[in-house]
Formats: sequence, structure tokens, C-alpha cells
Amino acid sequence: MSRRVWAEINLKALQNNLKLARSFLPLSKTLAVIKADAYGHGIDQCAQALSEADAFGVAHVGEAMHLCSAGIVKPILLMEGVLDDDEMELAARQGFWVAVGNAQQLKYVSTCKPEKPLNLWLKVNTGMNRLGVSVERAKEMYKELKAMTHVAEVVFMTHFACADDLESTATETQIKQFKNLVEGLDAQSSLANSAGIIAWNQQLRFSSQQWIRPGIMLYGSSSLKPGYDSQGAEKQSAAEQKLQPVMTLLSKLMEIKTLEAGESVGYGATWTADKTTRIGVISIGYGDGYPRHAKNGTPVLLNGKRVPLVGRVSMDMITVDLSTQPDAKIGDLATLWGRGLSVEEVASCADTISYELFCKVTPRVPRDYLNQGISSS
Ligand SMILES: *Cc1c(COP(=O)(O)O)cnc(C)c1O
Repeated sequence: MSRRVWAEINLKALQNNLKLARSFLPLSKTLAVIKADAYGHGIDQCAQALSEADAFGVAHVGEAMHLCSAGIVKPILLMEGVLDDDEMELAARQGFWVAVGNAQQLKYVSTCKPEKPLNLWLKVNTGMNRLGVSVERAKEMYKELKAMTHVAEVVFMTHFACADDLESTATETQIKQFKNLVEGLDAQSSLANSAGIIAWNQQLRFSSQQWIRPGIMLYGSSSLKPGYDSQGAEKQSAAEQKLQPVMTLLSKLMEIKTLEAGESVGYGATWTADKTTRIGVISIGYGDGYPRHAKNGTPVLLNGKRVPLVGRVSMDMITVDLSTQPDAKIGDLATLWGRGLSVEEVASCADTISYELFCKVTPRVPRDYLNQGISSS
């Protein structure tokens, strides 16, 4: 059976991106973030390939249990902590590292009776205002936790709200607050997500006992807001240019139709030909995770050349304007994002971000793993 849509996942690119992440803060340890099925790339295969990471970060205990059953033995951090005593017991039994960010989670820790001492990450709110305790409370809570005989390590952790925005002063403010907190304490720290690693690494060199937490950059996408040169053209930093796309989403041209001027294509007739136009139908739609909100003009690669999306995205199909590709024929290869077409560009045409596009690729799309079993050196 030939396939209509599939995603190539290049594990060598994943390994290269991990190396790049580590190179920014070479003294740091790396917690590779593989929550949400490794951002839709497949958590088992990605965890195997990320053998150079020191630990893994997931959102909740279910994802960590999955990793255990897949034979992963590296430490796993539950970045949102646990939701009740049962999860705490399970996490303790499995040796998961657990984030603690409020009084309730502190209680789960204090009443837990683990066989082996717990490793905890104390979540400090420095401005995200989502999870974590205040800087003032963190000082006390650190002491309380360290005083518990069943607690081993406590790592201070915070999360940036605006690290993707190079113009914002918020990140430096967050770093300053965090630095004041940990200064003088002989404790490990963790601040940076991908954008923090790429854009703020100079400001992060205050601590040598540090964990970086790269997520999106491992998958080859930069979350930074684009910079512009003096001509107003978008420019990427040298570091961003070294990121290699891990996922390439592929499909095929399945039909060609010729529209006369005045005829429209697709649901709602949202695009109308102004001249005789060949329209290509590509076998992918929102049922596969291609964003329904992709606008007219969103680029698609057909045989490696750009063609614009026209008309509305259906569940199983999209339509493109083949005017610039007179030789296009049924069966030709289409790239929706990945090698040759940046996922950020497609995401911005659909008013979203690469994270969401990756996470929404549905189970209907088979993943082909390239370079599986390859060592990372
Ligand atoms: C998801 C997540 C990350 C990774 O963020 P990216 O922007 O994908 O690099 C890091 N830390 C925490 C706490 C997260 O939840």
C-alpha cells in the first residue's frame, strides 16, 4: 500500500541539535525536554537518540511511566510535579525527580515515605506567574526541604516568560531575581528553555552548577521572534541557522484540475481564479495535523519548489496553485514543512507557532525514523 502522508524524523539532526544546545553553556548539564510525545516526534525513539542528555523532562507522571516501560533508565523530571499523594508515591517508587511549586506539593513531599531519598526541583516564580512559589517563599521552602531526611538534592528552577523576545527586559529581570535567590547557596540551578539558551546564555553564566532545559530547539525550530536587518529583511542568528529540522512532513500530489477565471476551489469558495489556473490537490489536511487556519499563499514545496496554498484546508486535502509548475504531475512529492521549508514560516501563515504544528500531527501520520540506532558521537 503506498502512503498518502508521512513524517520523516531525522534522529541524527536531533542529536546535532542537542550538541548545539550544549555548546552554548558547555559546563551545564542538559535536561532534554521530551514532553507531549517529544513535541509530536515520538518519545521512545527520541529518548533513545538523545543519549547524550543527562536527564529528561516530561510534564507529568504518565509520560514518565511510558518512558520507563520503553526501557529508559536516565533520570526523569516531572516538570509540573505531582497532583496527589498517589502520584507522589508512584514517583518516589520509580525514582522520578519531582518539581515542587506550591504548599500542596510540599505536603505531598513531606508526608511521602520513600525507600530512597527524593530528588526535587523547587519551582520559583520570577515573573511567569503560572507555577512556582515566590522568591521569598523559595528561600524558606528550600530550608524546609533540605531539613527533611527523605530529601536528597533540591535544584532551584525558574521558567522564562519572554525569552523569545530580544527587545524585552523581562528576562534580565527574571535572571536577576533568581540570581539573588541562589547566590551564596551551594545549590544547582535551572533557568533556560531553548530561547534562553540561544539568546540569553551570556547572562546565565553566573552559576556553574546549572541545568539547561532545551525543548523546541532539539527539534530544529527556533522560538525566537525574528530579527530584521537594516533593509527590513528577516534575519536569523548564526546559531539558529545551525539548527537542523528533525521532522519533515511529506505527502503527494493526487489530482490536478484546471479552473477557468471566475471559478473557485474548496469549501466556502474562499479563493477564486482570476485566469485559467491549474490547481493541484495534495493529500493532507487538518485530519493529519496540517493547520486549517493556513492562509491563502502559505508555501508548500512541490518537487522542492514553492507553490502557494489556495482555498480552504479540508480534513484530508489541500489545494495549491500550480501556475509556476507546468510539469507537475500526479504522484509528485510535496513537503509541508521540514527540510527546505521552515516550520516557523508555515506556522506564521497559520497564526500559530511551530510547537503547536508539531504537537498536532495526528496518529494518522506514520513516522519514519531516519538514522535509528546511530550513536551520537
Ligand atoms: C516545555 C518546557 C521547556 C522547554 O521549552 P522550549 O521553549 O521548548 O525550549 C523548558 N522548561 C519547562 C519547565 C517547560 O515546561
